[in-house]
Amino acid sequence: DTFDAMGLLENLLRGIYAYGFEKPSAIQQRGIVPFCRGLDVIQQAQSGTGKTATFCSGVLQQLDYGLVECQALVLAPTRELAQQIEKVMRALGDYLGVKVHACVGGTIVREDQRILSSGVHVVVGTPGRVFDMLRRQSLRPDYIRMFVLDEADEMLSRGFKDQIYDIFQLLPSKVQVGVFSATMPPEALEITRKFMNKPVRILV
Ligand code: AMP
Repeated sequence: DTFDAMGLLENLLRGIYAYGFEKPSAIQQRGIVPFCRGLDVIQQAQSGTGKTATFCSGVLQQLDYGLVECQALVLAPTRELAQQIEKVMRALGDYLGVKVHACVGGTIVREDQRILSSGVHVVVGTPGRVFDMLRRQSLRPDYIRMFVLDEADEMLSRGFKDQIYDIFQLLPSKVQVGVFSATMPPEALEITRKFMNKPVRILV
């Protein structure tokens, strides 16, 4: 199996190869194509399996680059992870001209607002700051079509459940959902039941 065979945009492939990836990992082989087709995807995967590039590729493939509005929202449990995802998204999407911003706690709110108002395609963030940006209407949900929860179990164990639900409530109803989680505790299963529509389940 190869990245070439996945039907990805030429400029996404260039980004993937320039980043140094040669062959898709097992999770990428199974997850990228369904995500690119717009399906809801649950992947039970540990970190280290290549999950970040799986959802980043799926998001980058589906963005409308002519529309500089937030079309994809990725939530992660920690600032460090959100910033790491931001870097990967930006690197893989380099030749596509993607605009990504990380909204995380501990940074200046006005700076987030300035960058968001200048226009981005993708927001990656921790639930608290993302909800804050939505509440202040600095982040507009109207064009969001893709919603990814990375390390969903970890977000739940850090007490982000209510904020995740609050954020989901504000998104358009037809949003595509990707859930990545090493384990599937009852609260994670509840999220998949409430947020997802006929999800494809991938266990690696
Ligand atoms: P992740 O599970 O997303 O945290 O990725 C774990 C590590 O694997 C990261 O250092 C990635 O850069 C690396 N990685 C992901 N996909 C591939 C690939 N297809 N080929 C080589 N390395 C990869």
